[in-house]
Parts: sequence; structure tokens; C-alpha cells
Amino acid sequence: MPQYQPPMRDMQFVMHELLNVVDELKMLPAHADIDADTINAVLEEGGKFAAEVIFPINLSGDAEGCTLDKATHAVTTPKGFKEAYQQYVEAGWAALSCDTEYGGQGLPLLVNQFFYEMLNSANQAWTMYPGLSHGAYEALHAHGTAEQKATYLPKLTSGEWTGTMCLTEPHCGTDLGLLRTKAEPQADGTYKITGAKIFISAGEHDMAENIIHLVLARLPDAPAGSKGISLFVVPKFNVNADGSLGSRNGIFCAGLEHKMGIHGNATAQIVLEGATGTLVGQPNKGLAAMFVMMNAARLGVGNQSLGLTEVAYQNAVTYAKDRIQMRALSGPKAPDKPADPIIVHPDVRKMLLTARAFAEGGRMLQGYTVLQLDKALKSDDEDERKEADAEVALLTPIIKAFITDNGWLATSHCMQVYGGHGFIHEWGMEQYVRDARINMIYEGTNTIQSLDLLGRKVLANNGATLKKFGKKIAAFIEEEGTNEAMQEFVNPLADLGDKVNKLTQEIGMKAFGNPDEVGAAAVDYLRVVGHMTFAYFFAQAAKIALAKKDSGDPFYTAKLATARFYFAKLLPETATLIRTCRAGLAPLMEMDEALF
Ligand SMILES: Cc1cc2nc3c(=O)[nH]c(=O)nc-3n(C[C@H](O)[C@H](O)[C@H](O)COP(=O)(O)OP(=O)(O)OC[C@H]3O[C@@H](n4cnc5c(N)ncnc54)[C@H](O)[C@@H]3O)c2cc1C
Repeated sequence: MPQYQPPMRDMQFVMHELLNVVDELKMLPAHADIDADTINAVLEEGGKFAAEVIFPINLSGDAEGCTLDKATHAVTTPKGFKEAYQQYVEAGWAALSCDTEYGGQGLPLLVNQFFYEMLNSANQAWTMYPGLSHGAYEALHAHGTAEQKATYLPKLTSGEWTGTMCLTEPHCGTDLGLLRTKAEPQADGTYKITGAKIFISAGEHDMAENIIHLVLARLPDAPAGSKGISLFVVPKFNVNADGSLGSRNGIFCAGLEHKMGIHGNATAQIVLEGATGTLVGQPNKGLAAMFVMMNAARLGVGNQSLGLTEVAYQNAVTYAKDRIQMRALSGPKAPDKPADPIIVHPDVRKMLLTARAFAEGGRMLQGYTVLQLDKALKSDDEDERKEADAEVALLTPIIKAFITDNGWLATSHCMQVYGGHGFIHEWGMEQYVRDARINMIYEGTNTIQSLDLLGRKVLANNGATLKKFGKKIAAFIEEEGTNEAMQEFVNPLADLGDKVNKLTQEIGMKAFGNPDEVGAAAVDYLRVVGHMTFAYFFAQAAKIALAKKDSGDPFYTAKLATARFYFAKLLPETATLIRTCRAGLAPLMEMDEALF
């Protein structure tokens, strides 16, 4: 059976030593009173909840899955899911970083970020139920009418109701401009919505008394394509004027998908049969409103893979210290035993360190980005809000794609550490691999994230936002330029920064000739830029660890070793990726379609 220990020490390092979050957050009027003790105490308790309540129902939830009663359209979640959710609601976890106006605790999103990393480590499938609610809360908070906010936000804040996002239809996933679900205006100002959605996470379940679906649909006179999409809020149970639950709305679960992973989460086929909904935001501007939820979800998906990377790593380490097989090539390391523990073998160490570096790098990048998100939402300085918002927009596709690609590699390596036992369910490792795989697909596939990064976030504004982020990296390099001990980190970082600049210009030039050049380079480009961000954070972490290495605290010794491993063994992947970016479009297009 796998185990999970909340990585409190590393979280505290990221928050208080690397990012100085208390000083940064105190500058925001809404968080002027925040202090480290409060943050740490909340996360300690959150870690206990994740490890003691949510983690024990992960393996069983995967084996049991969800079941649908086709006659009543009711979905039963695995044993223990409902009770755990009740505890979550009663303890007030749903309200952690929600607005105090709607009953929330008003804590920074950063606290929620680290809390959710632990929930994801403990049980990704369970965590998706409250996780999606948070996205629905944010979309309604940003774009809902006063009435919609009053009706839905307090219940989403308390967790009594959960939320979903209903975008995908059988014939359209990436290209939402193709969607067909219809919304017909009614005399009373509501809409009757009819259509079919598929793959809707947490789309039906028995954990909460109402489910608030955010549905994309088309008005009768809507222009074709993505400019004709509107957003509607469609509750499972209509809500009476006094806030009580009314009649059952015409939105049903018609089937559950049988899928590779996240079995404990109900992936629902949803049928809308003249369901009553109300418009969120402006007609035909639904995609923009939905992007609030999609961006929150993209950061959330990165966090899912970060959680899985951490828990897979922890278990693989325990196993590698315990399992004895063969002797070290350099001679016995445990002569009292019939063989050495497999952690002595260099390649086992490489797999463990890869997962460790991806977890620590991911935690630094996620923490930094969500801190910028807190600034983007809560700063009283408009310039700071805009700058932070642009940086979050730049880093969001990197988090979604780089951290989830890394999560897939890391969970696979950790399973490999177990040899054949990794393939067997009861060890838990094969579940992490299966659960991690979806994170590269939903919320916009990682290919789509890379097109978003290179096309929209970098080339469309001549690299301005990337250059601004690059200036922060350059300032750090200059600061450490004469520090002998830091050369092993700042030199490769500076070199990569130059190469990214040149590569961006080259792709931009080629794209003038043929826009398909962007599609040919984007996936590799995102990975290069992802590594640049990791290298920036690992260099800063190394600086702190070097300064504290004589403190006797083994945490810093380990941090330095991980940073060195990252720079020596993982970062060099960028050399290959830059070459494959440069190889461009021609090798992909040479083959005639008929020859495939
Ligand atoms: C378990 C699960 C849960 C999900 N949860 C939800 C949910 O809660 N709500 C919801 O609305 N949806 C959900 N989805 C749907 C998910 O977001 C889509 O599956 C995903 O966006 C991809 O769409 P698609 O499956 O239609 O693939 P397609 O859009 O058909 O794409 C097929 C392939 O073509 C590639 N491709 C498409 N266009 C381009 C392009 N322009 N350039 C390069 N490559 C391209 C894609 O990257 C992909 O590899 C879920 C899916 C699953 C499997």
C-alpha cells in the first residue's frame, strides 16, 4: 500500500525562503494582516486532512469507480467519497480563498494552491469534485450578475453545491467554434438549453445536493464559429427565490465514460433537454467568460500532476531503500545483506532524482505563478495588476503542459523503480501513471497549450511579456555574475536565455513565410521555455542552499544536490529540443498524406 507525507518543509522553503510570500502578500490591502504562522498552520491542518481523510480512499476509489443508475440518472461515487466531502465542507476547506462577501475566508490563492497540491497527491479523482467548483465560482464571481452571484456563490463557497464546466461535445473538443448546443430565449429572461455534452468531469454525483453546470451554447441568431458562443449557468435543481431547491432541471447524466484513470471521478455524458439556464456575461462572449474558469483549471491541472509527481516520488524512494537486488558495480554497499538496496544503482537514482527535481521545480513555478495571480487580483496598483496578469497568462500554458508532461515522465519512472511490482495495482504506482495521463489531454491538450504560448503569448506581442520575464532572469544572473559558487548555475541559465531569444526570433521570421512553422516548433519550444523557468528557480534555490549549507540542516544539502542534478542531467535536454525546433516544418510535411 502506498503512503503519503505532506511535503511541508519544501512548501515552507518555497513560500518563505524562495518567494518571501508574506512580505509580498502584505503589500496587497486584502492580505495586509497575513503572517507565516497562519499560512503554515492552515497548511499543516490541510496536509492532515489530505493524508488522513482523502488518501485512504484513493486506491479503493480507483478499483471501485462510479456507477450510474440509468433509470434515475443518479451516480454513486466510490465508498467513502461522500463522507470525505462532508468533512471537507464541515471543516470549511471549500471556503479557504473565497471572497468574504460570500462567506469565504479570504485567504490568498497561494494557500489554496499548496492545499490543493496535497489533495491531488492524496487522491486526484476525489479532488476534481471540489476543484471544478472553484473554477465555476471564479467564472461567476468575475462575470455573473448580482442575482447569479447571490444565488450561487455562497453555496459554491461553502461547498454545499459543486460546479462543472460543460464545453465538450461529441464532434467538438479543441475547436469549440463547432459546438451545437442551443439556447432559446424565454419571455421571463431565462433560456431553454438543448444539446449533448460529453466528458464532463464531476458531471453527476451523490456528494452534494446541487450541481451548478456552466454550459457553453449558441443563441438562435449567433454568428458561426467561436464568436457565436454564449455562457449559461444551468443548475441540476432549479433554485427558488428564497434560495431553497426547486424542481429538477432538464439536465441529466446519460452515461459514464469507461476510462484509463481517475476512475473515482464521474466523467459524464450530459444531455440537456430544454434545461432552464441564465446567461452569464454578454451574449456571444461566452468563451471569454469561460476562460476565467479554463485558466483557473489549467493551473489546477498542472497542480494535479505536481501532486502525483510528489506522491509517486515518495513511494518510489521508500521502495528503493527497501528492495534489495544485485550488488553495486563498485562492490557491496550492504555487505550484511544478500544484495544491495536498489537505491545504490545509478539509474535508479536517476529516476528518483528526475521525479524529485520535477516535483520541486513544479512547486516553485506553481507557487511563483499563483503569487502573481494574487497580485493580479488584489493589488491596488493598476500597473502591478496588469504586469502580474500578463505574467500569469505567459506562465499558465507552461504550467499546464510542462508540469503535466513531467508528471507523466516522473510517475512512469517511479513505477519503473518498482520493477514488475510497479505494474501491480496494490502497490499504487500504476494508478499514478494512469491518473497522470489525462492531465496532458484535458483543459486543452498540451499541443494546444504550446500553440497558445508560442503563437498568442509570445509571437503575437513580439515577445514583449517573455522579454519582461527574461529581464528578471537577467537581473538575477547579473547579481550572481561574480559569485564563484553560483557559476555552475548562472552560466547555463544565461546561455539558455540567449538561445531562447534567438530561437524565438528565428521561429518568428519563419512564421512570416509559413504560419505552419509555429505548429512545427511549438511543443518543443514550450519545453525549452519550461526548462528555462525551472533553471531560474533552481538557481535561486541553489543560492539559498549554498548560503545555508554550513547550517547542518540536511534539507539544504539535499536542495543543492537536486539543483545540481537538475542542471547536469535534465536541463541539457534543451540542446536537443532547440535542434528539433530548428529542423522546422519540412520534415513533417514532406510525406504525402496518401503515404501515411
Ligand atoms: C477524463 C476526461 C475529462 C474531461 N473533462 C472535461 C470537462 O469537465 N469539461 C469539458 O468540457 N471537457 C472535458 N474533457 C474534454 C477534453 O477537454 C477534450 O477531450 C480535449 O480538450 C481534447 O478535445 P477532443 O477530445 O475533442 O480532441 P480533438 O480536439 O479532436 O483533438 C484530437 C487531436 O488533435 C490535436 N489537435 C486539434 N487541433 C489542433 C491544432 N489546431 N493544432 C495541432 N493539433 C491539434 C489535439 O491536440 C489532439 O491531439 C474531458 C476529457 C476527458 C477524457
